Amino acid sequence: MIDKNSPEIIEIKEAMCELVAKNFAIDESKVTYEADLMSELGGDSITLLSLVADIETKYNIIVLDEDMGSFKSIDDFAVYVYAKMNGIELGNEAVQEAVTYHRTTDFTETAEYKALHKRMDDAFVECENPYFVPHDSLIRDTSVINGKKMINLGSYNYLGMSGNPETVQAAIDAINKYGTSASGSRTLAGEKTIYMQLEKAIADWKHTEDAIVCTGGWATNLTFVASFMREGDFIVYDNLSHNSLADGVKLSDADSKAFDHNNLEQLESILKKIEGKYNKVLIIVEGVYSMDGDIAPIPEFVKLKKKYNCFLMVDEAHSGGVLGDNAGGVDDYFHLEPHDVDIKYGTLSKALGTCGGFIAADHSIVEYLRYQMDGFVFSAGIAPPLAAACMKAIEIIRRDNTEVTKLHRNIAYFVKRAREEGMNICRAGESAIVPIMIGSDVDAARISSLLMQRGIFIPPAMYPAVPMGESRMRVTISSTHSIEQLEEAITALSEIMHEEGFLK
Ligand code: PMP
Repeated sequence: MIDKNSPEIIEIKEAMCELVAKNFAIDESKVTYEADLMSELGGDSITLLSLVADIETKYNIIVLDEDMGSFKSIDDFAVYVYAKMNGIELGNEAVQEAVTYHRTTDFTETAEYKALHKRMDDAFVECENPYFVPHDSLIRDTSVINGKKMINLGSYNYLGMSGNPETVQAAIDAINKYGTSASGSRTLAGEKTIYMQLEKAIADWKHTEDAIVCTGGWATNLTFVASFMREGDFIVYDNLSHNSLADGVKLSDADSKAFDHNNLEQLESILKKIEGKYNKVLIIVEGVYSMDGDIAPIPEFVKLKKKYNCFLMVDEAHSGGVLGDNAGGVDDYFHLEPHDVDIKYGTLSKALGTCGGFIAADHSIVEYLRYQMDGFVFSAGIAPPLAAACMKAIEIIRRDNTEVTKLHRNIAYFVKRAREEGMNICRAGESAIVPIMIGSDVDAARISSLLMQRGIFIPPAMYPAVPMGESRMRVTISSTHSIEQLEEAITALSEIMHEEGFLK
């Protein structure tokens, strides 16, 4: 039993009052030990994280993700900190929340349904709902929406591999040979030579000993992180990591901690604090961040993973098939050695033009995953036409770099023009994702709808995909665009942004 009023804990509480006042930008006289940090002292998810970071530094502890809900006030937090510093296991006595239940079978009555509707009603007051717009054609430089051909600057067909005549033919041949389904988990009755060939092609492309392919890109991240990282392990991940990674972290039995985006110092301080503890430590970052478009400093992460004996996983959803002269991803772009990145994750749905996900890694890891990764073992293999088309896409990318050269030319052109027009493109520059920052959901949705009226499709990225108030037009560039199409889009966007008061 820890005494909340012991001199050591009172000392922590006093120091905390000062840190709460500083981080929440309030007067210290307003801070009491019992007040709820969020509802009474005005903290939010961002200021709370900065408070936690200060406390971690001051007391040389790590506040695990899973513990964040266990303190509501300085009273609880000080006990938590004291317990951490002294290696005491805390039970659930820290906080008892008063919960009121409302049993219902009418889903429209639930808090979650009401919250969704409120968000949509608030965002789409000035235009139609921009979600689920049907594209009834191939999605390449253009697509057909409501019977009208539009310039499409919102999809992931970075190298035009979906709809490429060679990948289409490969898919047709595979359907004729194998049908349209794996018809089983590969472990038991669904295995096919074409899947083994695809995994070999991926491993060769990513310079690893082996690779494994699952049916969905999102599911691959989730199931990999949850299956590979177990009790006694530790995951440390960039706080801008994709939802599929963050959910994998939640599902895993490992301890975990997020670090601020690309903050190498913070990452190193976490790694130092856990030295000598945990069996495996996995650092998770992305090659290109999916909402901001920036390229992560992978060589710096490689240095840290070597220094602290960790596994490094890079999500290459938006860097594979995009970065590097031969579109080989971060390895190609940064000229890495084959073993610098331990876990190379990729999705088949973007530059590779189909659907599914892969993990390329050492043979021992892949062998383990084939028997122990739930999303692989307990799920059917990908459809044969997708495997065939994907294999053909890798062959084309490795055969010649015409498409990737066109993609790089297009990215450079669009980025240059967006900057010339005075647009804020966040952290983008060399990737195929170029966000144009707007602000509120309402404004981003309205601009998207005005662009549609001018024959241009650019979807808005809104909360919760991006932080509240940081909605943006999320432009994605493809090798299939012409310079004229890009110019038409940037001109329309610039005119609308001027008319709407976002550019002067
Ligand atoms: N990782 C990242 C960074 C992503 O952006 C995405 C999807 N946009 C995924 C993983 C999941 O891939 P998929 O859409 O193929 O399921």
